[in-house]
Amino acid sequence: MQIVHYPHPTLRHLSKPVKRVDAELREMIGRMFELMYQAEGVGLAANQVDLPLRLFVVNLKCDPEEGEEHVFINPVISLPRGVEEKEEGCLSLPELHGQVNRPARIQFSAYNLSGDLLEAELEGLIARVVQHEVDHLDGMLFTDRLSTTGQMAVQEDLDTMESQFISRREHGEIPSNEEIAARLTELEKKHC
Ligand code: ZN
Repeated sequence: MQIVHYPHPTLRHLSKPVKRVDAELREMIGRMFELMYQAEGVGLAANQVDLPLRLFVVNLKCDPEEGEEHVFINPVISLPRGVEEKEEGCLSLPELHGQVNRPARIQFSAYNLSGDLLEAELEGLIARVVQHEVDHLDGMLFTDRLSTTGQMAVQEDLDTMESQFISRREHGEIPSNEEIAARLTELEKKHC
């Protein structure tokens, strides 16, 4: 398992709700936390590690010794209120940053690994992280939400990443779209 970078097709995959939490899924989630800490991120969505499942992990302190580890399964956001502009980055878009407008407060619900339904009203950093990660699960990236000026500022870097992706694929480091899609379908059959 590794973090995939733009423009890997799984980043545009619409994630499927998880129906079964088993040992294999728990192991994958543990590995997601490790990768998130290595990359010094505060959140990581399943499709960022090439999994088609509707779940993400969060630790706002980005440190296994500190902060709280959250696993959010089948998350739902509702009742967005207010608007706030903040800088965002993404582990799938290394070194890219941009100002993103998002609702300041949201109602959030998700299941944890024990199958308990969590419901909370969120604001601040956690509200932003949760919205960024749910976007991932819907196949969206923060760069899709940038203003026209913001888009223009990152376009050159996105073009470079696209060329690197094509080159890595030509060298056989990245499977074809068909192979990636077939693997996602297999995983969906197993867990969704
Ligand atoms: Zn991200």
